[in-house]
Amino acid sequence: MITVPVNEPLLDGNEKRYLAECIDSGWISSEGPFVQRFEAAMAASAGRAFGIAVCNGSAALEAAVAALRIGPGDEVILPAFTIISCAAAVVRAGAVPVLVDSDPLTWCMDARQIESKITPRTRAIMVVHIYGLPVDMAPVLALAERHGLQIIEDAAEAHGLAWRDRPCGSFGAVSAFSFYPNKLVTTGEGGMLVTDDAALADRCRALRNLCFRDGQRFVHEELGWNLRMSNLQAAVGVAQLERLDQATRRKKRMGRRYSEALQGLAGVQLPCARTDYAENLYWVYGLVLDDSLPMDASGARSRLAELGVATRPFFWPLHEQPVLTGLGLFGGERYPVAERLARRGFYLPSGLALTDAQMDQVVTAVRTTLA
Ligand SMILES: *Cc1c(COP(=O)(O)O)cnc(C)c1O
Repeated sequence: MITVPVNEPLLDGNEKRYLAECIDSGWISSEGPFVQRFEAAMAASAGRAFGIAVCNGSAALEAAVAALRIGPGDEVILPAFTIISCAAAVVRAGAVPVLVDSDPLTWCMDARQIESKITPRTRAIMVVHIYGLPVDMAPVLALAERHGLQIIEDAAEAHGLAWRDRPCGSFGAVSAFSFYPNKLVTTGEGGMLVTDDAALADRCRALRNLCFRDGQRFVHEELGWNLRMSNLQAAVGVAQLERLDQATRRKKRMGRRYSEALQGLAGVQLPCARTDYAENLYWVYGLVLDDSLPMDASGARSRLAELGVATRPFFWPLHEQPVLTGLGLFGGERYPVAERLARRGFYLPSGLALTDAQMDQVVTAVRTTLA
């Protein structure tokens, strides 16, 4: 029986009070006042001028790609080691995803591999911050500038994270956040686009809302989606964001606690605590098993489950996704770091509601499993 869940969110701020305000006032749709409050607060926390709330992080990425008018004939460079949502946004727009491998220490896309993938068709680089460390942005910014490329930043896992002194969510044309319950700020389901470009913000708002027009509302010149966020979700989001500093402090403390308890354990790579441009926020606490260990990630995960500890596998790389190779993409390409992370990596319970006693149980279970 699982006694330590992999993620349990913490909803102990003003969430209930703000939800009650929605119900008492009757404002529950996307027209309610919490939506704009949440947009302004998220934009401010990412150092951006505009926020556009949407229904989830995957939709935010899709709208970002569409808003930049990326389409057939275009290529977008992104990491092989990421969630399917990144590739889905590119493929659904009719563009071609082009992959780079990860850095074996940070697990984020290796910025040094981007330049060799740039072609005359490249329109954008989609950077994805993974598991608590950011992509090294300096070389990405330089390449984008030199080659005239857009940057789309997937900051779904990067609330409260910084690259040097700049917040994640502040890079490039547009950045996407997710508010799924395992993220640092949750609204149950939800997402947000943030940007400094007023015209791009208008375009994201239009795409979110079926491209209704101001004058003749029901005459459409373009197809959008209904990606709106409800006032109920935004009310939870405003309460969550009030506690972001506490949440990030808590994650860092949890990460340090796991690292101290697991330091020196043979056969396993722990998350990198810091690089010269960032400190790990430990959004989730990942482990990568050494090749010398007879067991792979799924073997270790089953043994941990028997000991009551729930875990999650790492991402499965995009070049090994049947739905994408079935489209004729990535024929024969290899990304050895991403392949290894997928087979040997998984993460431990990392939710904000995790107690010290539960962490101790996890550590004992990991030691027993790897002994
Ligand atoms: C969670 C996540 C998403 C998708 O967000 P949803 O709200 O679940 O659609 C996108 N990218 C990354 C890196 C994520 O971790």
